This record gives sequence, structure tokens and C-alpha cells, in this order.
Amino acid sequence: MDYSVSRRRMVEQQIVARGIVDQRVLEVMTTIPRHLFVEAGLQGHAYGDASLPIGEKQTISQPYMVAAMTAALGLKGDERVLEIGTGSGYQTAVLSKLVKRVYSIERIAILAGRARKILDQLQLSNINIKIGDGTIGWNDQAPFAGILVAAGSPDVPTKYLDQLDIGGKLVMPVGDQEQQILMRITRQEGDSFEREQLMGCRFVPLIGEQGWRPESII
Ligand code: SAH
Repeated sequence: MDYSVSRRRMVEQQIVARGIVDQRVLEVMTTIPRHLFVEAGLQGHAYGDASLPIGEKQTISQPYMVAAMTAALGLKGDERVLEIGTGSGYQTAVLSKLVKRVYSIERIAILAGRARKILDQLQLSNINIKIGDGTIGWNDQAPFAGILVAAGSPDVPTKYLDQLDIGGKLVMPVGDQEQQILMRITRQEGDSFEREQLMGCRFVPLIGEQGWRPESII
């Protein structure tokens, strides 16, 4: 099945139409085969305007949300970025085409394994995936020019701010388990942080030491 027409339509109707102008993001999303990141029975829905289940009570983010979060990082190409919540690996693939190296953390081993396999098949070789609690970041590899968190948290884990480079941007949903606000936090000279609210959103919970406790998940 050739999905290139659906993919082009997805970019035009869902992403360009809603105001995303970062040409590199649009190009990459026109090429990455999103259908390979969902199970066989859902491939026909992969280019629809919605998130989809990927097992383990998790979801692959809606295409527009992937585009908006990626564009919000303002990437140029030479960055090292941290992603929290590998999930299907789709967002990881998009980032890998836009930066020098992606460090991605996923707490559910089965999802990390599946993502690794598809990313390898696509020969995306600038990605390190780690299984574990991403709420503490990845200190050994810090600082990062960008941190993208694909799960919602009640607050911003302080480690993310510590691990951000000067001029670096953190994009993440902050709020309760029902709904969140997509925040962008930019680290400025002199250790001050600019905070912007980008839009309302709805993500699965960020579970861990600095996020939601496993027993509090509703
Ligand atoms: N970008 C992914 C989104 C997956 S959903 C995609 O589009 O496919 C969010 C993911 O965050 C889930 O896979 C979930 O297991 C993971 N997650 C939640 N809390 C986490 C934590 N503390 N550390 C790492 N991953 C976490």
C-alpha cells in the first residue's frame, strides 16, 4: 500500500492549514512512514487527524501535535535533543531527521523495543534509546538544546531545567491528568527562564519520581 498521497494530505490539511510554517518539519513529516509506527490493523488510520492506541495504554500523538511540538523547538540541524516518552518512536524518527542526535527515554520496555526495531529498519542511526524513568532526564548527556516531553506532568521536573543548554527550549504538557497546557520554557543567559503557554492539549501521564505516582493514575 502506498501511503504517500495520504501523508501529503495529512501535512497540507492538518499541519500547514493550522499554521505550522517550519519547512524542515513539513518536509520530514511528508517523508516519514507514520503507518509503520502503528499496528497492522490501524495502518489505514495512521494519517488521520488523531492520536491512536499503541498498546500498554499508551498512544501515538496526533500528527499536528508532533508538528507543533517539534516546530516549537526551533531546530536548525546541529542540536542534541532529549525526548521523554519514546512510545511508538514516530516523534523520535521526526526529530532524528532534524538534529544531530536524539536521546530518548521510555519507561515501558516493550514499547522501547518495538520502537528500536522500526527505527533500525528505517536506518535512522543517530538515536540512543534508554529504558527507565525519564522524569530525571539524562544527566550524562546533558546539556540539551531541546527537550521534548510527550507525556503530561503536574509540574515541570526541575532536572529538565538543569539539563537545558543556554538558549535551549523545553516543550512539555503541564496540567492535571484530564487536560494540560503545552508549555515552552527557554533558558536564557544568566539562568533565567522564559515561560510561554502554547495551547491546550491532552496527553497520557508522565509517570515517575518527578511526575505522577503510578498509584495516582486514573
Ligand atoms: N511520542 C510518542 C508518545 C507516546 S505516549 C508517540 O507519538 O508515539 C507517551 C509515552 O511516554 C508512553 O509511551 C509512556 O510509556 C511514556 N512515559 C510516561 N512516563 C514516562 C517516564 N517517566 N519516562 C519515560 N517515558 C515515560
